[in-house]
Amino acid sequence: MIKSILFSWLLLCASPLFAIDITLSSETLKFGETIAVKLKSPERIKSHSILFGGKSFQLFLNDYQNKHYIYVTYIAVSRHSKSNYSYLKIGLTFSRKNKFYKEYKIALDFPKKPKIGRVRLTQKAKSLSNKTSSYKKEGALLAKHFKKTTKRRYFDGLFIYPAKGRLSSEFGKLRHYNNGRTSSHAGVDIANKHGTPIFAPQNGKVILSKTLDIHGNTIMIDHGYGIISIYCHLNSRSVKKGKYIKKGTPIGTMGMTGVASGVHLHWGLSVQNVRVDPLFWTQESNKTF
Ligand SMILES: [Zn+2]
Repeated sequence: MIKSILFSWLLLCASPLFAIDITLSSETLKFGETIAVKLKSPERIKSHSILFGGKSFQLFLNDYQNKHYIYVTYIAVSRHSKSNYSYLKIGLTFSRKNKFYKEYKIALDFPKKPKIGRVRLTQKAKSLSNKTSSYKKEGALLAKHFKKTTKRRYFDGLFIYPAKGRLSSEFGKLRHYNNGRTSSHAGVDIANKHGTPIFAPQNGKVILSKTLDIHGNTIMIDHGYGIISIYCHLNSRSVKKGKYIKKGTPIGTMGMTGVASGVHLHWGLSVQNVRVDPLFWTQESNKTF
């Protein structure tokens, strides 16, 4: 018994005879932001375990440069997290059973209380919003798509704004509707005139293009590496599921279909199934890829 415990302990401590270089874009995670993790290794990683905020993240082989494998992943924590910090735990196993483990304490810089907003729905939107079964059904459908982690990377550089307009609701706002519902905003809203064109903010593959009761005309785009974006309440959709599109491709027009209080685009972004602020991915100062 003692022998076997000792043996597994030795195995756990067996570190590789080569250097693993890990770079984090930040060791502080601000509300709605994403951290890029870059890993350089002269040997190929056989298996990995990346844990952050109690959630497992996938690592992606991004490149091979100067005899080194370059892996990347993007990590984020739920906007509902109450903690002041979260551990990032990186465990790697190489082909000759060599193991590597490193832990980082990431500070979470979240506001003490969310900003509050009030939303007045029209009579039509109000009656639509009473369809509890639609909320459940659509929630499950979108959740399934947000879980996609494609090992290929389609995105390239910064995201652009998908539409011109006024930022009418920011990420993480706690919104009280006049039908008694409350919800934490999982994206940002851009408001403008009916029919304002909407463009793909980044390269990707359309994984959903559908008319839904609550979310209205909805499009979801897979940008690869677990990065998925969503566009809701469109007046019209001009791309079909399965289509590969480039940054700047028109995908539809602005409207107020589904449960909406005015003409706007709801734009959301998800990092391996964690909703983040899409605006972060548009800022030059945060360019980490
Ligand atoms: Zn919204």
